[in-house]
Amino acid sequence: MRIVLLGPPGAGKGTLAKLLQETMEVTHISTGDILREEMNHQTPLGKKIKRFVESGELVSDTVVTKIIENRLSSKKNSDRGYLFDGFPRTETQARDLDKILTKIQKPIDLVVYMESTLPVVLQRLTGRRVCKECGALFHMVNKLPQRPGICDLCGGALYQRPDDHEETIKTRMEVYLKNIQPIIDYYAAQGKLKKIDANRNAETVKDELMKIFDAKSKLGHAQP
Ligand code: AMP
Repeated sequence: MRIVLLGPPGAGKGTLAKLLQETMEVTHISTGDILREEMNHQTPLGKKIKRFVESGELVSDTVVTKIIENRLSSKKNSDRGYLFDGFPRTETQARDLDKILTKIQKPIDLVVYMESTLPVVLQRLTGRRVCKECGALFHMVNKLPQRPGICDLCGGALYQRPDDHEETIKTRMEVYLKNIQPIIDYYAAQGKLKKIDANRNAETVKDELMKIFDAKSKLGHAQP
């Protein structure tokens, strides 16, 4: 299946994508992760986008769409399903994604709109810590690591993303609210949008989604 995860920063898209990957044959494509990797390796692209990512503004549509196009051209990826996390973030990106997927005859099956309220996302984002080595997610209240500052999975150092500070979170929310409605309208018009209450914990959200996927597969709507 090709699935888009939509929702505000802190709705739990990344956490959910990691959980879904454990049970489904899907490749998780997170534009945020890809951009941060470019920044960590200080590539020319990484240097160009740094100020946008760290201030919570969007990187240009052209740059992110090119990244997606490159990822989707890999044979290994196209044989599996996809889980798009953090892309599309503008209506232009949504339209471009459809154009790319139409070319490879693998259209989007489902768009999951993860609704979450501001106090919940603020609490999640300000407490979030990420492993520098493997990207595993922790939380200073909801999911403490066994040893402070150390990843339970690989022993890597945990850090707070620069854009997870309160002021930048506000910018990210404003950017999100400015862009989301046309994307929702676009997918709703295609009959692909499914809303889900993402204020609940990730396992509950995942279980509900698995039921939706099962029902969709049984109806034969999902293409291989
Ligand atoms: P995320 O990890 O999804 O929260 O993304 C972190 C940051 O990366 C965002 O605040 C943007 O600066 C940038 N970014 C990620 N995905 C996109 C996208 N689809 N379009 C533009 N900028 C993006």
